[in-house]
Amino acid sequence: MTRPIKIYDNEKKHIFNLDSDEASALIAISNMPYSFPDEALKVQIILARTFLAKRIKSLGGEGCALHTEADICNSSHCMSFLNKNKLFNQWGEESSSRWKRICSLVSETKDKIAVFDGKPILPVFNKACGGSTENSENINDVTITYLRKTFCDYCKCNSEDIVTLDIDMEEIETALNTKTALSNWQNGPEIKGFFENIERDEEGRIKTIKIGNTIYKGKEIIEKLGICSTKFGWKPKVITFESKGFGDGLGMCQYGAKIMAIEKKTAEDILKYFYTGIDIITLKKYEPSKILDGRRILLDPGNGAKYEDDYFGRNMILKLCFKIKEELSSLGAKVFMTRDTNDFCAMKDKVMIADEINPEFYISINCNYEKNSNLSGTGIFHFRGDIKSHLMAESIMTALGSYTNLIQKGVKIAELSVFKEIKVNALLIELGYLSNEHDKKILEDTKSKTGVSEAISEGIKKYYRNNSPQKQ
Ligand SMILES: [Zn+2]
Ligand SMILES: [Zn+2]
Repeated sequence: MTRPIKIYDNEKKHIFNLDSDEASALIAISNMPYSFPDEALKVQIILARTFLAKRIKSLGGEGCALHTEADICNSSHCMSFLNKNKLFNQWGEESSSRWKRICSLVSETKDKIAVFDGKPILPVFNKACGGSTENSENINDVTITYLRKTFCDYCKCNSEDIVTLDIDMEEIETALNTKTALSNWQNGPEIKGFFENIERDEEGRIKTIKIGNTIYKGKEIIEKLGICSTKFGWKPKVITFESKGFGDGLGMCQYGAKIMAIEKKTAEDILKYFYTGIDIITLKKYEPSKILDGRRILLDPGNGAKYEDDYFGRNMILKLCFKIKEELSSLGAKVFMTRDTNDFCAMKDKVMIADEINPEFYISINCNYEKNSNLSGTGIFHFRGDIKSHLMAESIMTALGSYTNLIQKGVKIAELSVFKEIKVNALLIELGYLSNEHDKKILEDTKSKTGVSEAISEGIKKYYRNNSPQKQ
């Protein structure tokens, strides 16, 4: 069962789709050397698929918190991995045979993920544990039942190995969220013990430079290194980190897995060895818990904006609410509506429905129409002291701000009769003015993917994500 995954590309700054099998293959091979034995690579592939199962939104996963449209991003924020082009460039002539091997390992582990208590595990791993893995609480204060100390005799012999890791300067800056002065090549920075005592003429040409222990003339350097001109500088592109010893020792030990695979242990043996008490199941058997499971929400599509004797927007709001209902239902919520036809719905009927359904939230969605076509913007209202509705309103307002260009008039307290009659947490959204061209265009746009309905759904989802107990 392969599924499309939405990935935010940090280099190209856009979202692309990738098949989940291909993504598992790329993630696995970006994290484990190709030379490792089949069963070790299969372990890495199952961990990659487990990671994706936790993230894919259509499986109830949490998605990427930075790029909310995407399931994951391809930086270290979620998971950095090579794309196929870069991988093939590295592999050169052997690309197709290597890729064939990886793909067959993916199909040999078809659909398999690692779960604990029915939920995908946190697929952490380390390069070499040095003799034993760690209890999770010793590393990050959180007790995770399946991350226990496990003795690993397999990788002791590697304890003196030096591990090198090349990281692009840009990637370092992104990961640490900082900018360094090194990216400007014209002023090619001094690098202590390497490039020192740099002397340039007024033109910026290198007159002399000390490299190592020797002072060279600019001309000598360009001859020896084949640089085009003495007007040169430098910037580091990749930094090679060398480290001795081990990562944090959490989860699967890659060197251990390698030796176990050589000793004819299977991928499942290896996984069960490093993650205490887990099961390996197929994605088909995995029934994800959804973020809005058990939530009850009553949407009230407003009757439209009354202006003189006409009503505007009744159908638009109804359609909008259907879209919100569909989105929230797909996340597990039970969504009810005060009306599902274009007939007028009286206040007393709304109150009756709310009493009967007893939802967690009553969310009324409305629009305005005024003689003055300059009036525009969105406001959300709730009753005084209704803290939950206030938080929900803030969450929806923030999402509307990032998804749409509607002008934000803020979250306000209002003494509306509806809040007195409806006995549950209630909010009223005044989306905007159909009498205003700017608002009208946004409200009536049902084609764009990031529209008003998506924003409201996202706001509701975020509220629950931020206000329910942390899931493991
Ligand atoms: Zn991310
Ligand atoms: Zn180990």
